[in-house]
Amino acid sequence: MILVLFGAPGVGKGTQAQLLAERYGIPHLSTGEAFRQAIREGSSLGEQVRHYVDNGLLVPDELVTAVVEQALEAPPYRNGCILDGFPRTLTQAQALDELLARSGRHVDLVINLIVSEEEIVRRLLLRGRPDDTEPVIRQRLHVYNEQTQPVLDYYACQGKLIAIDGNADIETVHQRIVDIVSQRVPVRHATEQS
Ligand code: AMP
Repeated sequence: MILVLFGAPGVGKGTQAQLLAERYGIPHLSTGEAFRQAIREGSSLGEQVRHYVDNGLLVPDELVTAVVEQALEAPPYRNGCILDGFPRTLTQAQALDELLARSGRHVDLVINLIVSEEEIVRRLLLRGRPDDTEPVIRQRLHVYNEQTQPVLDYYACQGKLIAIDGNADIETVHQRIVDIVSQRVPVRHATEQS
């Protein structure tokens, strides 16, 4: 099962992706986390992406896609993956389809988590990551709003897009997602671990 968690920064993608990964026994891939780790390690990838991440700008598509492609070819991701924070642009969505098709895979479902803007800003300021200062949050929301619609349209056309109200507690939102997955991905759902 390949599930994409889509939504603005602060809607809870990371938390929900983690819970889904545990529930279905498949890994979670967060491009933002991969970049933060690369920056912490001081790797060449870290050097290349630092400026974008620190300023709430999108890392160039080729760089992000290369990171995802490499991960999805690794054995832990062969049986499936919860993608969090990728794809974020139409180019990335198209690149994802192409790279999955090369190994006979495809995106099963795209969950669009929707949370009100005041709640997003409140949650992000509480989280307190280095890129969670108010100006950078506003920049990230601005970038997100600009890039979002083409990606949503792309998946809506494929009949894969489901909107979920994320204005609730973590467990309630998790259950909403699980209910949708069990309706929409019935065969793969049988591999669920708990
Ligand atoms: P996130 O943890 O998903 O909020 O991502 C943190 C930062 O990493 C973003 O503000 C971007 O600078 C960068 N980033 C993460 N995923 C992507 C992506 N799919 N495309 C471009 N930039 C990304």
